[in-house]
Amino acid sequence: MSFAVPERLLLGPGPSPVSDRVRAAMARPVLGHLDPQFLAIVDAVQEGLREVFGTTNSLTFPVSGTGSAGMEMSLVNFVEPGDSVIVVEQGVFGQRMADAAKRLGARVHAIQVPFGEICTRAQLEDALDRNPDVRLVAVVKAETSTGVLQPLDDWAPLVHGRGALLLVDTVTALGGLPVEVDRMGFDIAFAGTQKCLGAPPGLSPMTVGNTAWRRLEERRDPVPSWYLDLKAISQYLGGSRAYHHTAPISMIYALHAALDAIREEGLEQVWARHRRVAESLWVGLEAMDLQLLVPRPYRLPTVATVAIPEGVDDRRVRRRLLEEHQIEIAGGLGAWAGKAWRIGVMGEGARIEHMMRLLVALRSTLAAEGVTRPSGLAALEDTYQKGGQS
Ligand SMILES: *Cc1c(COP(=O)(O)O)cnc(C)c1O
Repeated sequence: MSFAVPERLLLGPGPSPVSDRVRAAMARPVLGHLDPQFLAIVDAVQEGLREVFGTTNSLTFPVSGTGSAGMEMSLVNFVEPGDSVIVVEQGVFGQRMADAAKRLGARVHAIQVPFGEICTRAQLEDALDRNPDVRLVAVVKAETSTGVLQPLDDWAPLVHGRGALLLVDTVTALGGLPVEVDRMGFDIAFAGTQKCLGAPPGLSPMTVGNTAWRRLEERRDPVPSWYLDLKAISQYLGGSRAYHHTAPISMIYALHAALDAIREEGLEQVWARHRRVAESLWVGLEAMDLQLLVPRPYRLPTVATVAIPEGVDDRRVRRRLLEEHQIEIAGGLGAWAGKAWRIGVMGEGARIEHMMRLLVALRSTLAAEGVTRPSGLAALEDTYQKGGQS
C-alpha cells in the first residue's frame, strides 16, 4: 500500500514547513533509546533547547507528545486537587489550560480577556489580591488563536511575591521570538516542535526551574498520570538512564536537526527574520486593504490574524488557496471562527518568498471570487529591499 502526499506550503498556525535537512534526519536508522550514541543525541537536544529557551535549567527536554502534552505535563505535575490556580483566558489556548487544570481538581480563577486584547498588569494584580492562596499562575505568551503577544516582563516578581509558580505556554513563541525563561523568571515553560522550531509535530520542549522542582518534592500524592510523571522521566534524562517509556527516536533526530539549523543561522538572526518577514506580510496585507485584527504594539509576529472581508466565503477561499495554489492558511478559532484568517510566519515558513507567493495567490483568489483588491506587492517589495534578504 502506498499513499501520495502533495507538497503544500504550510502557512497556517502550525504545522509549519519542514526543511529537507530535517526530513532527512528523520530517515536515519532507528537506534535503541539506551544506545550511547542515541543518548548523546538526547544530551545535544537538551543543550539546544536550553539555548532557545534562554535557560540553564538542567531539566529541559522534549516531552513525548505534541504541545498539549507539554501543557498537560505542566499541570498534572504542579497542580494538586484543591489548589488555587489563576489562568489567563485570552484565547482558545488559555481556555484549554483552564479546562485541563479544572479536570485535575484545581480551583481555577480565570482572568477573562476579550479576543485580540492583552491581560494588563492591573488585571493580574487584582486576581492575585482576590486569591491570596494562589499556587500557580498560567498564561499563554503567544496566543495562536488571536495573534496576540502577551507582555510578561514584570510578571514573575508579582507572582513569586505571592508564593506562586509562573507557568508559561510558549508554543508559538519558542524559536520565533525571544522567550528568555531565566531572565523573565518563568518557573515552567512548554512549547511545540511544529510551530517556530521547524520540525514536525510530535514533541513538546519543556523546561522546569528549581523552585518548581522543589514544589514537586513537596507533593502530597503521586502524580495522577503515570506517563507524564516528571520525576520518573527525569531518571531517564539524568545519570541513571532508567527506562521509563521508549523515546520517539526519529522525532528526536528531527528536533536535533532543527535546533542545529537555528544555531547555524544564529538565534537572534532567526528572531529578526521572523520579525522582518511578519512586518513585510503586514505591509502587503494592508496595502491590499485587508485589516489586521490586533493593534501593532502587541501584535504577534508569528501569527497574523486578518479580518475576512465582507461578503467573502471563508471556506471557499481557503479551499481554493489549498487546491489551486497548494497553500494552507487557517480560519479563526473560538470567538473568531468565520471572522478571521490566521497566517503563520513560523520556522521555515518565515521567508519573504513564501509571503510573496501567498499575497499573490490571495489576491488572485479574491479576484476570482469577485472581490478586487489593490496590489500590496509594490509596498512589500519596498520593505523587502530595505530589510535585505530573508
Ligand atoms: C498549538 C498550540 C498548543 C497545542 O499544541 P498541539 O501541538 O496542537 O498539541 C498549545 N498552545 C498554543 C499557544 C498553541 O499554539
